[in-house]
Amino acid sequence: MSHPLKVIIAGAGIGGLTAAVVLRHIGCQVEVYEQAPTLRTAGSGLSVMSNAVAALSSIGVDLNLEHFGAPVKCVEIRNIEDQLIRELPIPEVSSSNGFDSVCISRKALQEALLEQLDKNIIHVGTKVTQITESGEGVSVHFADGRETQGDLLIGADGFYSFVRDYVRGNQPIREADYICWLAIIRYQHPQITPGYVAHYWGEGKRVGIIDIGGGEIYWWGTANMLTEQANHWQGSNRDILSYYEGWPDIVSDIISQTPSENIISVAAQDRPFSSLWGKGRVTLLGDAAHPMLTTLGQGAGMAIEDAAVLGHMLKQQTDPVAALRQYEEIRIPRAEMFVDISYTQSELEQLSTPTSCQEREDALRFEPTEKLRESFENLLKFPVNELDVVSA
Ligand SMILES: Cc1cc2nc3c(=O)[nH]c(=O)nc-3n(C[C@H](O)[C@H](O)[C@H](O)COP(=O)(O)OP(=O)(O)OC[C@H]3O[C@@H](n4cnc5c(N)ncnc54)[C@H](O)[C@@H]3O)c2cc1C
Repeated sequence: MSHPLKVIIAGAGIGGLTAAVVLRHIGCQVEVYEQAPTLRTAGSGLSVMSNAVAALSSIGVDLNLEHFGAPVKCVEIRNIEDQLIRELPIPEVSSSNGFDSVCISRKALQEALLEQLDKNIIHVGTKVTQITESGEGVSVHFADGRETQGDLLIGADGFYSFVRDYVRGNQPIREADYICWLAIIRYQHPQITPGYVAHYWGEGKRVGIIDIGGGEIYWWGTANMLTEQANHWQGSNRDILSYYEGWPDIVSDIISQTPSENIISVAAQDRPFSSLWGKGRVTLLGDAAHPMLTTLGQGAGMAIEDAAVLGHMLKQQTDPVAALRQYEEIRIPRAEMFVDISYTQSELEQLSTPTSCQEREDALRFEPTEKLRESFENLLKFPVNELDVVSA
């Protein structure tokens, strides 16, 4: 192809922006279209695990995330009597990959991505409403009547993706019947050392407390609740506190210090995995392709891996449509593994009877160290050796 490949990206979430960074980096012409009137800066925190940082590095992109968030130094699973069940080997496994896992606010991650982009390529207030393909290209139409053409379309338009519906039709939602509350506050406590992460496991409830650097922490809580109720949650911090009565003081302190209006609530949900990610000049990336429950903290990480692999395939392959199919072939098994583990781990972590919770605690406490380490290596190692498919 004599002209630079023109790639249209639907959605300017973490997935869409990362794809834009990677594809610009390899020399594509990129346009990003976001339905919202402004880029979303609200939101809480997330973890960008070592595998996602490694994926970006493999294609030559470094977001310097350690300057925007907190490299993870200690991950503890505790029970509600505040006893340590197990320290997880996430920092060691990450270091052995050569890349720290980083906890960060969504806003800071977005800033890190925007620093690498020319803002003129991002168009807000542009909702994709129609897609038309021809032999020569793909046309995308927006709700306001505008239209653009490109060589490829990447659907990075999230959980309720329009592009996914175009590719594979409407797909069911899988409700997990629990609620997640999330917030960021400025908070100091001797327990929260730099890079500290604690997950408290209770009966049908969990709380996470995470250092994200700069004197801020990100916390989340879950509680079993019918989706219908979770979708209409209107409660205050006091209402949330009532779910964690008798839990360690640090939990109640953090929740009571968070203004109710700063707490986001979402019903936990994903979709059964589908291996149909694209057709013709169109493919999917991030939550549009593989929405997953939040248990592994890898939803954004998988979107970042997607973007890196897509970049590798477009760089290696002269036929861009063939590159999309290769990208899908490489990504589908690993994405499916993450969706499945997130789902089963979520069921385990939301167990609610005293006996099952005790069994869960014992299983983690006595799991052989080598086995525990292996399961994290499986998740945190980005499989860079699978990328060289064209020359193989
Ligand atoms: C409670 C919770 C905690 C989480 N914690 C973590 C964590 O710790 N670590 C982690 O890695 N992940 C975490 N995740 C998952 C992570 O947030 C998502 O996987 C990730 O943000 C997905 O990014 P995305 O860009 O694919 O989708 P989104 O962030 O949803 O972005 C999609 C974008 O597309 C836009 N859009 C939608 N439709 C259209 C259209 N028709 N036209 C144009 N634009 C459109 C949307 O407005 C949106 O801006 C968490 C998620 C939740 C809910």
